[in-house]
Amino acid sequence: MSESDADKTFRTKSLVDRRDFVNGVAMTIGASLFPFRELLGQESSPDSSAQEYFLSKGITPQDPRYYPPALTGMRGSHPGSFEAAHGLRDGKASHDVIDTEEDYDMVVVGGGISGLASAHFYRSSVGPQAKILILDNHDDFGGHAKRNEFQAGNRLLLGYGGTQSIEAPGHYSKESIGLLKELGIDTQRFYKYYDQKLFPSMHLKSATFFDRETFGQDLLWPNVIVGYDETYSGGKTLTPEALAQMPITEVARKDILRLQTESIDYFPNLDPSQTRAKLTKTSYKDFLLQFAKVHPDVVKVFQSSTHDLYCVGIDAVSAQACRGMGYPGFKGVKATPRRRSESQDGEEPYIFHFPDGNASIARLLVRSLIPDSAPGHTMEDIVTAKMNYARLDDPRNPVRIRLNSTAVAAKHIGDPSTAKEVEITYVTAGKARKVRASHIVLACYNCVVPYLCPEMPEAQKEALAYAVKQPLVYTNVQIRNWTAFQKLGVSYIYAPGGYFCSTTLDFPVSIGEYKFPSSPEEPCILHLVRTPCSPGLPCKDQFKAGRYELLTTPFETFERKIRDQLGRMLAAGGFDPARDIQAITVNRWPHGYAYEYNSLFEPQDRPASERPCVLGRKPFGRMTIANSDSDGHAYTNTAIDQAYRAVQEVVSIKEGVAKSA
Ligand SMILES: Cc1cc2nc3c(=O)[nH]c(=O)nc-3n(C[C@H](O)[C@H](O)[C@H](O)COP(=O)(O)OP(=O)(O)OC[C@H]3O[C@@H](n4cnc5c(N)ncnc54)[C@H](O)[C@@H]3O)c2cc1C
Repeated sequence: MSESDADKTFRTKSLVDRRDFVNGVAMTIGASLFPFRELLGQESSPDSSAQEYFLSKGITPQDPRYYPPALTGMRGSHPGSFEAAHGLRDGKASHDVIDTEEDYDMVVVGGGISGLASAHFYRSSVGPQAKILILDNHDDFGGHAKRNEFQAGNRLLLGYGGTQSIEAPGHYSKESIGLLKELGIDTQRFYKYYDQKLFPSMHLKSATFFDRETFGQDLLWPNVIVGYDETYSGGKTLTPEALAQMPITEVARKDILRLQTESIDYFPNLDPSQTRAKLTKTSYKDFLLQFAKVHPDVVKVFQSSTHDLYCVGIDAVSAQACRGMGYPGFKGVKATPRRRSESQDGEEPYIFHFPDGNASIARLLVRSLIPDSAPGHTMEDIVTAKMNYARLDDPRNPVRIRLNSTAVAAKHIGDPSTAKEVEITYVTAGKARKVRASHIVLACYNCVVPYLCPEMPEAQKEALAYAVKQPLVYTNVQIRNWTAFQKLGVSYIYAPGGYFCSTTLDFPVSIGEYKFPSSPEEPCILHLVRTPCSPGLPCKDQFKAGRYELLTTPFETFERKIRDQLGRMLAAGGFDPARDIQAITVNRWPHGYAYEYNSLFEPQDRPASERPCVLGRKPFGRMTIANSDSDGHAYTNTAIDQAYRAVQEVVSIKEGVAKSA
């Protein structure tokens, strides 16, 4: 790999710093370009799972030092987590299977929020004696609800590696909100814990970074069209003075003004419902170019503004969806009003955030399922509680969580319609083992299920295979201090041409003993988002290409891109990547958000009850299906609601069996 001038500068400076640290003794640099772990004493595993990393240091899972959340480097779908499943996909069967002779009431495949919630609901229904085994292929539980820990001296800093916040809890079902309450989560308390005034009191705002490769110059422009205080969805418009600074052609600037102010009906021959249908089937990009007839530079500005939410750009998001989010151009368009469910009315603030995101929900679930797995008993003390991973798979407990274990087969013992048991085979450390259970909840990914259960009816397998999860990367970067942000007056940066589409200061949340570093002189976590898209392709093809990209991009590339982008965006604030970056955790999610039905690419007249996710989630013998995929919505409450449904189905199957006996 060739080394750029920027790399050379970073590398030289890092080595100088490091020599200072190690007293002039030269050491070998590992897979990372920059030696964070030796500098700061952090554990880093860019190329391995926690299991391999800790075992290589002689630390077994029974050792309290075995602690996956403390690892930096490549996390999310880390090396070692997906190979067994890909082997299954590629037809590599496990021949020698060790029989563990373990028997459970229920086995759950997938230790994300849906799998953990399934165990919770089942236990609530059957009683605390229920024997449950949860299998997960990752070295940590929680699935997308992933905790990232950092150490700044003696200070613990927390980041969220996936699932960010409890979004709009007022809209949660009674089962979802009920589960949060049972775990001790009182969402009202976030009004106290989330300091909504901190950034405004420091005059920190959102900005846009225009990069020289896309826009001809590097420029941090002190306005934003999307982000946390979005211009358009916030009901504001850009002034001509602000637009004059935007590095795009004069025609494009005028076009943006025109989109904001003019009331043109671009569909005069269509009635409001036809217009709505048209917008539903037209991408925002096409709307801009073909109907509003803007200069292509306008598209460049908006292109990645939908990445955070849709994992694709405006070429693959409908004009109707963009209209719903307040994008400009629709003032004169007479389309049927947005449905109530799409309305922003009464929207709750986006503040329901634990410092490790919804990983706190996963940790609360585990603490409630497995006694002594973590100290404490409140939503506050879970934030700093250290989990004891040695307790997770303890044969003395009725609920066990077995990590680093990929399920590769689930089959009924006998005819699925009459079988009394299911056999599940999983691979751990290269060895296949099997357990038996009365029931199985598949809380993994829909796309895995057809490989796990070839005995399922073909139509159901086809429906399950329909979903293509949306890939994305959540990166957490520990920085020495955040004075550059203070100097520049920014807390959020949208980068339409950047490798990372957004960069934001961590949410200002202090809860329990955890205190947000509210002084800019303190070390802090930055959060960077990348969604690897291939504009122009249908969205599922973009997701597949993105997944491939993520799995073939080494940590070193992410690291280089992070240093380059942060260095350029924050240069005027005095940020020096070599000096100021202290640790990096890249959470790559090749299978990220659940596939959501994108109106541009889905039939419009298909009833909701015939969506593939609904057809695919039917119970099969003693197997039921949970996971957010099974409702086609990438939300925590969906994962919980689907767990509840799947467990209700298990209960019905049990009752049916009992009646017929
Ligand atoms: C980056 C990101 C950010 C998000 N932010 C938010 C947010 O702010 N708010 C919100 O409400 N929702 C958010 N979501 C969506 C939310 O995270 C999910 O809907 C929810 O956490 C999914 O939980 P789950 O248990 O259904 O799936 P997952 O979390 O994916 O858990 C499923 C688990 O099953 C495992 N698995 C798969 N196959 C196998 C196998 N063969 N054997 C064993 N295990 C297997 C998977 O690896 C995974 O660990 C976000 C999602 C992502 C990816």
